[in-house]
Amino acid sequence: MKHKPPAHEAVDPQGRPGHVPFGSLGLSPEVLKAVEKLGFEETSPIQSAAIPLIMEGHDVVGQSETGSGKTAAFCIPAIERVDPSIHAPQIVILVPTRELATQVADEVHKLAAFKRGLRSVPIYGGASYERQFAELKRGAHIVVGTPGRLVDHLARKTLDLGRVTMLILDEADRMLDMGFHEDIEKILAAAPASRQTVFFSATIPPSIQALVRGHAKDPKTVRIAQRVVTGPPLVDQIYYEVRHHAKFDALSRLIDFYDVRSGVIFCKTQQMVEELADKLVARGCSAERLHGGMPQAQRTRVMSKFKAGAVEFLVATDVAARGIDVNDLELVVNYDLPYDAEDYVHRIGRTGRAGRKGRAVTLVSGAGIYKLQSIERFTKTRIRREHVP
Ligand code: AMP
Repeated sequence: MKHKPPAHEAVDPQGRPGHVPFGSLGLSPEVLKAVEKLGFEETSPIQSAAIPLIMEGHDVVGQSETGSGKTAAFCIPAIERVDPSIHAPQIVILVPTRELATQVADEVHKLAAFKRGLRSVPIYGGASYERQFAELKRGAHIVVGTPGRLVDHLARKTLDLGRVTMLILDEADRMLDMGFHEDIEKILAAAPASRQTVFFSATIPPSIQALVRGHAKDPKTVRIAQRVVTGPPLVDQIYYEVRHHAKFDALSRLIDFYDVRSGVIFCKTQQMVEELADKLVARGCSAERLHGGMPQAQRTRVMSKFKAGAVEFLVATDVAARGIDVNDLELVVNYDLPYDAEDYVHRIGRTGRAGRKGRAVTLVSGAGIYKLQSIERFTKTRIRREHVP
């Protein structure tokens, strides 16, 4: 495949391509419907930068971490590329672990929910060969697998990569750290030379640079360079480390503990907003929801209720919350972590205004702690850790 010069800069002049509506990316109605059903309101920065480049056929090196929305950034173009009438693997997604294989396969499944006839299969070690073979034989278009097991299938001739048009390496740095270099080379060699190659990696050490040099054609690099942004000085910033399933409990206790009258609780998707608002109301909390999936009239109604003090908590997505112009919020809660420091500052800037002291509370679970550390770095503030009361 001959590669065109880039249609646009991968990294914008400000170093932050930012968020755009999914509708502006030229996606199929089926994928747009799935994105809407998942409650994604707009792209994350890595998505708005990487999706167009991958869809244009470029080899891409994306530097980004878990939590950036990277999985959808490569799954969406992969799904759009599949021709369901061809009964052979067309996309291979290499991942380091079994957990990631199921997670990525799950995301493919959700994003392809309205693509008729599209099939994907996770292939990883420790599971039965027979079942994987049967699933491959039934005709999988997208294969998500760990390198070792995929090489086994190649050797047994139960997997043929001759019709592959796109090969994606997710968490490439981790795969190399785990000693998968040789297996990766074998898989790359088994796919047609004309294929497109996409690398996603949290870090780009020399070993990854060498892999890219050896296998990519005129690769475009996508990196979401973060800017240093200063947070509002009067906001007391605290975080609580909680297990994912204990988040709601923690939030309930914090609301009681701080005894607040007005707050906004941020979630990443419309679904999360719906679920959390339902739970809060069921718990007897005075809460309303606010997200981009609601009709404008209803949103306006909710906003005026909130401003009038008739409701204490708003559960909102970032998009919907852009219209909130309330000055004296006592509390901002990051129920989900924002994508980056800029979004974080934007969220918490709604408290601590007009010379009053505000409070911003962030709930962190699992690998989210790394994201939080990066937010601390880019806001040059320390976010104090406390234990849930
Ligand atoms: P990842 O960085 O791929 O591990 O994604 C982190 C989480 O963000 C996953 O649960 C995704 O479903 C979710 N996600 C991905 N893209 C978006 C988006 N544009 N808006 C809201 N949530 C998203």
